Amino acid sequence: KGILVGGGTGFVGKRLGELLVSKGFNVTNISRMPAAKNISWTHLDEHGIPAGTVGVVNCAGQQFMDFTKAWTPGFKQNILNSRVRTTQTLSNAINKSVNKPQVFVLITGVGAYEPSDHKKYDESSPTTGNDFFSKLLVEWEKAAQVSPPTRLVIIRSGAVLGRDGGMIKNMFLPFFFGVGGPIGNGQQYLPWIHLDDLVRLIHFAIENPDVKGILNGVAPQVIRNIDFTKAFARALSRPAIIPVPETILNIALNPERAMIMTKGQHVTPKRVLDYGFKYKYDNIDAACKSVAHLFPQK
Ligand code: NDP
Repeated sequence: KGILVGGGTGFVGKRLGELLVSKGFNVTNISRMPAAKNISWTHLDEHGIPAGTVGVVNCAGQQFMDFTKAWTPGFKQNILNSRVRTTQTLSNAINKSVNKPQVFVLITGVGAYEPSDHKKYDESSPTTGNDFFSKLLVEWEKAAQVSPPTRLVIIRSGAVLGRDGGMIKNMFLPFFFGVGGPIGNGQQYLPWIHLDDLVRLIHFAIENPDVKGILNGVAPQVIRNIDFTKAFARALSRPAIIPVPETILNIALNPERAMIMTKGQHVTPKRVLDYGFKYKYDNIDAACKSVAHLFPQK
């Protein structure tokens, strides 16, 4: 049972690979870097989906929050290409394959929904935003068209909470040294999911033949930035009273990129719950406790 994972070397992809191997799958990554378990995107394009592949997952994408990179038109193009082109390459390969995989799972984001203080979104909500991220999401998800018998599952993930990547990695040191705090007034919604639950949800989507379509990859507990701030500070036994002013982030990061932190959406995982998926981390305190350790844990 083979699973092909685009971006399987990343924060989400690596943990997914570990889970899938523990469940008896044979995992091959598609990566820009050569390694024993990797193939390249060019190899995939030229040779197609490897024989024996039952599922394909795409977790590839240049990080938005790489603070070493300025928010230039070139960087924005990389952000787009690393998602839309990799997804298109995978759907082309699936559509051309003779022995079609059973499922294609694409990880996108809740940025599909226009940030709002009052709208409430589930999977049936429209994605009508006009900002950079909601426009990117429309193109990204459009690139994932595959036809039956391959099931298409698109997981719109919230901020993924894990010790070694994403938001926690970026915020760990300031919080650890007691200089963390809310972003702006902290009232913006913060859709979130624990890394373990995201990879469990991907596995659930692979194994369960009924699962198809859009899933909101978020915990059922809706929180605001201030709730996360308090929970993470509590988990580390530190104060978190120094707010990060929105204007500083807008100047440092560019308002278009800073909005990931300064704005948010009220998102619920209606379809995920309807399918009967059980979360391991359904509240922010437990999730923060599990990532509040200085060194990686085995
Ligand atoms: P990572 O930053 O860890 O990157 C994932 C992989 O993408 C990398 O290992 C890399 O693989 C590949 N990649 C990076 N840049 C490029 C590029 N320019 N061209 C092609 N491939 C590239 O991402 P995460 O694991 O954190 O996230 C996975 C996906 O989930 C992303 O699409 C992200 O947008 C989405 N997501 C993540 C969230 C989070 O909080 N982390 C929240 C919501 C959505 P290699 O170097 O091997 O080629």
